[in-house]
Amino acid sequence: MFWKLVLVFIALSFAVINSNSPSSASAWPLLPVGTDQDWALPSTVVIIDVGHGGIDGGASSADILEKDINLAVARKLYFTLRRQNIPTVLNRTGDYALSEDNRWHISRSRHRKDLSQRRQLTEEIESELLVSLHVNWSKKSSQHGPLVLHQNNGESSLLAFCIQDALNRQQNTAFLPREGKPFYLLNRVQQPAVIVEMGFISSERDRKMLTDPHRQQEVAAAIASGIRQYKWIVH
Ligand SMILES: [Zn+2]
Repeated sequence: MFWKLVLVFIALSFAVINSNSPSSASAWPLLPVGTDQDWALPSTVVIIDVGHGGIDGGASSADILEKDINLAVARKLYFTLRRQNIPTVLNRTGDYALSEDNRWHISRSRHRKDLSQRRQLTEEIESELLVSLHVNWSKKSSQHGPLVLHQNNGESSLLAFCIQDALNRQQNTAFLPREGKPFYLLNRVQQPAVIVEMGFISSERDRKMLTDPHRQQEVAAAIASGIRQYKWIVH
C-alpha cells in the first residue's frame, strides 16, 4: 500500500512541478522540505483522509454523493497546502474503497477493513496531523454549516478550533467544534486528528457550495488557513 501512496505522491508532485516551474529540479518533493522557515520540518506531513469511496458513497442527496465532494475538496486542499509549502499526502486519489487495498485485516466487514486501512496509513507515514474530510447529513433540511470533531486531547481540540473558526468565517456561521467520541479514526490515530464535516448535503444552501468548484476552493482555503493557524500556535 505504501508504494501506492508514494506513486500517488510522485504523480501529484509532477502535476505541481509541471504547473509551476517545469525546469525546477529542486522542487522535487519526494520528502518535501518547507522552504519557508516556519515550515522547515522535513518530516512534517499533513495526511488528508478522504472520506468514503468506491462502493461506499457516504451521505447523498439525489445523485450527489458525499464521496465525490470529499475527493474534490481534498484535491484542492492538497494543492493549496503544497503551494504554502506544507507537506501533504492524500490517502485516496480516485473513486475506490480503501478496504480493497486492505489485505492484512481478516474481517468480513468492509467497513472495518476500510477504517483499519485508514489507520494503518497513519502509522506508515510519519505525519504531524490528520484531517478527515466528510459531509454531514440531517433529516432537517434547515440544518447547515460546518462542524469539526476532535479527539480527547488538547492538540486535536486546538486544531479543531482553528479549522472551525476558519470555516465559520468562510460560511458566515458560529458553530463550536465538538469531541467526536464514537469515531474509530479519532480513537485509534496517534497523531492529532480531526473530522471536518464541511457542511450538510441535506441543506440546499450547503449543497450548492459543496458542488461548486469555485466554492469548494473556498472551503479548502479555509481548512488550510485553520491548519496554518494551528501550526503557528503550536510551533
Ligand atoms: Zn462521511
